[in-house]
Amino acid sequence: MQFRARWVTLLWMRILLSNDDGVRAAGLAALAEVAGHFGEVFVVAPTEERSGFSHALTLWNPLRLRELKSNWWACDGTPADCVYLAVNQLKLEPDVVISGINPGPNLGHDVIYSGTVAAAMEGSHWGIPSIALSHLNHDPKTIEALAHQHLREVLERLIPLARTRPQTLNVNFPDVTKGPFAGMKVTKLGSRYYSSEIHERRDPRGRRYYWIGGAAVTMADIDGSDCNAVKDGHISVTPLGEDLTAHHALQELKSDLDAGLDSK
Ligand code: MN
Repeated sequence: MQFRARWVTLLWMRILLSNDDGVRAAGLAALAEVAGHFGEVFVVAPTEERSGFSHALTLWNPLRLRELKSNWWACDGTPADCVYLAVNQLKLEPDVVISGINPGPNLGHDVIYSGTVAAAMEGSHWGIPSIALSHLNHDPKTIEALAHQHLREVLERLIPLARTRPQTLNVNFPDVTKGPFAGMKVTKLGSRYYSSEIHERRDPRGRRYYWIGGAAVTMADIDGSDCNAVKDGHISVTPLGEDLTAHHALQELKSDLDAGLDSK
């Protein structure tokens, strides 16, 4: 009975999918297939890869939407543009926005740069429950195994959780090729730093250009963090809000400001 009741809640949803890897990405196709079990699927995704575009909106260039097939659109803008247009122009009225599945993690500081997370956050911004999905393995070919083995069960639990909360749920799956998962864990953002190496090269006309984005990554050992959870084989689920205020620093900053004013 409980099983049936859960299906009744999940059925007939309108599900908007997006990503930052482009409309042809393997992660999106796998997600669309599984999401189809839960309701009507709509896809608005970037024409080309837009990983690392964060929450950018295209304000100074035209945006074009191309309907590739029924309910699938390619947009030549950013991930945030896609969700913005899906909600405000196409008026798709989704019950939930799901972004991904990104090949590669979005843990700790990654969320600042991630287009995957931004597409989901754009959904939350318009009051729609949203989920961002990322897989630790960078090889897009491994996403199919992840989707087939785990995604349906995970979404069955996550969508009802997301639908009762205003936050974006940022979900990271451990590497599916490295054995079974240890279950889901609610986490906070950890710390993940990339090396700062820059490759300087010369173009065919002799002018310098640069290739940024270091490959080596350090994950800080922080109890309760998303980084620690995936290291231990758990699927991390981190609620993300739009409020970037460092609340712990407010009082000290006020005191310092007042002290400074008093001394003048
Ligand atoms: Mn990506």
